[in-house]
Amino acid sequence: MQKRVIDIIRDTQKAGKHCLSFEFFPPKSDEGLSKFYEVARQLKTARPSFVTVTYGAGGSTRERTLDMCSWLKEELKITVVPHLTCVASSKNDIKNIVGEFKKQDFLNIMSLRGDPPQETCQFTPVSDGFRHANELVSFLKMEFPEICLGVGGYPEKHPEASSFEEDLHFLKRKVEAGASFITTQLFFDNTLYYRFVEAAQKVGIGEAVPIIPGIMPILSYSQIKRFTHMCGASLPKKLVHKLEKAENDPEAMELIGIDWATKQIDYLFKENVPGIHLYILNRSRAALELSKRLQF
Ligand SMILES: Cc1cc2nc3c(=O)[nH]c(=O)nc-3n(C[C@H](O)[C@H](O)[C@H](O)COP(=O)(O)OP(=O)(O)OC[C@H]3O[C@@H](n4cnc5c(N)ncnc54)[C@H](O)[C@@H]3O)c2cc1C
Repeated sequence: MQKRVIDIIRDTQKAGKHCLSFEFFPPKSDEGLSKFYEVARQLKTARPSFVTVTYGAGGSTRERTLDMCSWLKEELKITVVPHLTCVASSKNDIKNIVGEFKKQDFLNIMSLRGDPPQETCQFTPVSDGFRHANELVSFLKMEFPEICLGVGGYPEKHPEASSFEEDLHFLKRKVEAGASFITTQLFFDNTLYYRFVEAAQKVGIGEAVPIIPGIMPILSYSQIKRFTHMCGASLPKKLVHKLEKAENDPEAMELIGIDWATKQIDYLFKENVPGIHLYILNRSRAALELSKRLQF
C-alpha cells in the first residue's frame, strides 16, 4: 500500500529511526532498463522507506517514468514517488499525467520546474503552463489535495538565483503553496546543509516540513565535475584531492565515494536529520554498502 512520504517520515522518527530513500532515473536504452530491474531487485534487501523516479528533460521520459514507478510499486511493494516537471506541459497535460499517477494509486509527487532543454539556457513555459515550481505546487494542491508534494531545495542556492536569500524566499513560496517536504540538491560538505536548514527555519519554514538531505556517492571524477558544474554544488578541496589521485582507478574511486558518503551520513544522523535521500545513479553497490554500514 502506498503511504504519504510525510507520514513515513513521522512514523520513522517516532520509531527512533531514519528514512532511507533511493532515486532512480529512467534509462534511455532497453539495456539500461534491464539493468535497472536487476539493480532494483538487489536493493530490496536495503529496505528503503521509499524510492523516487526522475522525470526526464522535456517530459521525454514521461511513459518510462510511469512504467518504472508501476513496476517498482509491484515488485518492491513500497511507496514510490514519481517526479514531475513543468517542462513542455500545459496545465491540462499536468492534470492528465497526475490523473494517470492517481489511477495507479501513487500518493506522492516530487514537484519541480525542471531544467530548460540543453540548447536553450532560459526556462520558457509553454502557453498555459507553469513558470515556477510554486505555481505547479499550488495547482496540484488545488486539483489533487490528497497528494503529498515534495519540492527541491538548494543548500548552495539554485544556479539561476541571484542570492541564497532570494532562493530561500522562493523555497518558502513552494512551502506556502502546499509542499509537505523538501529534498535537497546533492552536497558534499554537511555545514552547507546545516546552514541551509537554519536559514530555512529563520524565514519561517518550520520543522513540520522536513528537509531531507540528498547525498550522492561519487562513482567517477569526470561525472561528478559535470554534475556539480550543472547544479551549482561545490566539491571540498580535500575530496577533490582524493578523487584526483584515484582518477584512473574506478574501484578506488567508488570506495572514496562510499567512504565520503558514509562519513557525511554518519554525522548527519548525529544531527537528527529526517532521513537520507541517496542519488544512486541506478547502481546498487554504494547503496547496499551504505545501508549495511549505517544500519538504517
Ligand atoms: C530533489 C531534486 C529532484 C530533481 N528531480 C528532477 C527531475 O526529476 N527532472 C528534472 O528535469 N529535474 C530535476 N531536478 C532539477 C530541477 O528541475 C532543476 O534544479 C530546476 O532548474 C529547478 O527546479 P525547481 O523545482 O527547484 O524550480 P523553482 O523552484 O521554480 O526554482 C527555479 C529558479 O527560479 C527561482 N524561483 C522560484 N520561484 C520563483 C518565482 N515564483 N518567481 C521568480 N523566481 C522564482 C528560484 O530561486 C530558482 O533560481 C531535481 C532537483 C532536485 C533538488
